[in-house]
Amino acid sequence: MEDRILGLHHITAIASGAKRNFDFYTRVLGLRLIKKTVNFDDPYTYHLYYGDKTGSAGTILTFFPWESIQTGRRGSRQATEIGYSVPESSFDFWLKRFEANNILYNKVSEKFGESYLTFLDPDGLKFELTVSKNQDNRQPWETDEISAENATKGFHHITITTNKLQPTADVLINIFGYQLLQSSVNRYRFVTDAVPNANIVDLVEIPGEGIGQVAGGSVHHVAFRVKDDQVLMKFRAKIEAAGLNITEKIDRNYFYSLYFREPGGVLFEIASENPGFAIDETVELMGSSLKLPEQYENKREEIVGHLPVLD
Ligand code: ZN
Repeated sequence: MEDRILGLHHITAIASGAKRNFDFYTRVLGLRLIKKTVNFDDPYTYHLYYGDKTGSAGTILTFFPWESIQTGRRGSRQATEIGYSVPESSFDFWLKRFEANNILYNKVSEKFGESYLTFLDPDGLKFELTVSKNQDNRQPWETDEISAENATKGFHHITITTNKLQPTADVLINIFGYQLLQSSVNRYRFVTDAVPNANIVDLVEIPGEGIGQVAGGSVHHVAFRVKDDQVLMKFRAKIEAAGLNITEKIDRNYFYSLYFREPGGVLFEIASENPGFAIDETVELMGSSLKLPEQYENKREEIVGHLPVLD
């Protein structure tokens, strides 16, 4: 059990403006900013982490905001929808909220026996709020305007659009331990029973779909969760044995990571639960100050001078 992939760890996407991104996710959607750091490969831009109170795996949505980046295009070889789990009867609340904040949304629909509400973030990143068929007992982060009866509880699923189902399905089934649960037309729902939530990947197969462009408003990568960096290395061996290229273990301060491109073209990451987001600030203070990796500490003043003010 403990050696398994434990559903989603985090999802990372690209935004155009840091301030607008911060306002939307903390105020409109009501997530908690749990970590404010920089892109380790580009320290003059933020890496913003949003999640529940403690930054639990399966609730973490992160952004690289590049102020002047162009808008991407949804297409194949991309993760194209991010699903959040919401309480039953919360749709009226969200519909009013989207209306009041000029958010683009669709009417409530249903798939696989679950109701969902689609909306776009200010950069066009596509989301679904889904009322899960399975009980979701995760404690949401609450704000002044969004109480637990409406608040998002963390991820429900991620959707990947692909030209060809099987190669990506093989990774999910043979390496990650997921199973095909259901399919409808060209949407195939895969699930792992290793965890009760954030455990769904939908593959949408569209043979003729053009390749998506990863830029503003698109998902950069999808990270799956393992217990610790020992399990991480077991998966590294499995992925290599399957003939896929995979990075060495990378220290991301809050977790250890491996990256590989799955055969359908989406960048997958495997991330460990250890050491976690409380390593450099208490739960109460999470997200309140800019955290820099050691190698950039001596440039703090210069870096802060380049970063937009968030609040
Ligand atoms: Zn990541």
